[in-house]
Amino acid sequence: MGTISARDYGVVFDGFQAPISKIYNCGAKCAPYNNGQPVCCDAGHAIPIVDKTEYAHLKTRTKMWKPFVPRTPDQKAEIADLKGSENCAVECNGAEFCERDNRSLACRSFPFFPYFDKKELVGLAHYWNFEGLCWVIHNLTIVEQPFIDQFLKMHEFIFKKDDNWRVTYVDHSAVMRQVYSRRGEKFAIIMRDGSYRWVLPKSGGKTVPATKKELMKLRSGFTLPND
Ligand code: SF4
Ligand code: SF4
Repeated sequence: MGTISARDYGVVFDGFQAPISKIYNCGAKCAPYNNGQPVCCDAGHAIPIVDKTEYAHLKTRTKMWKPFVPRTPDQKAEIADLKGSENCAVECNGAEFCERDNRSLACRSFPFFPYFDKKELVGLAHYWNFEGLCWVIHNLTIVEQPFIDQFLKMHEFIFKKDDNWRVTYVDHSAVMRQVYSRRGEKFAIIMRDGSYRWVLPKSGGKTVPATKKELMKLRSGFTLPND
């Protein structure tokens, strides 16, 4: 089984620079309702977890990252769970001081993960825990093709180096189908070519085309945290 080297992370960072959208600054959409901090840059919502090799590579590029110090019992438990794993928890200097070139892979990818239809990588799905909090999840039509292309290309590069990553996302995709099947709801995925499909609940992952007009209805799900 291969592993991803620090050098490979350099390739990934070079090849994955496209923003989700050149038109919309999504941080400006969620931050006003989260004490001025973009939700995905706020450790209260999301503790950045990185591969230890990725952290080693980041440290050669920047002083922006440091080990995460847990502040709450929940955070302590989350960090304790990482013991013995390949991952570590880190934190950056905050959105105000963000160096775009030195963001982690998780920062670049959020709020999406590679979605597998059974065994095949077909597109992008969102981290459902952030529904209601992340504006992008409710505005999928703003996601631009260069982001989709780079996201998929760089994840495929990683999967070739380390199959464990692929298996993790195959499993995560299956969990998402289970979550939505329990809810009795469909969820949208973004396909390679920028089109959209609904994954139907209790269907074994069957998909049907989704229109932009239908996706507009997701907008009402962005519930402002401080409302
Ligand atoms: S990706 Fe989502 S949570 Fe992060 S800044 Fe954009 S809207 Fe906010
Ligand atoms: S590196 Fe930038 S994008 Fe990533 S959590 Fe920090 S401020 Fe947010």
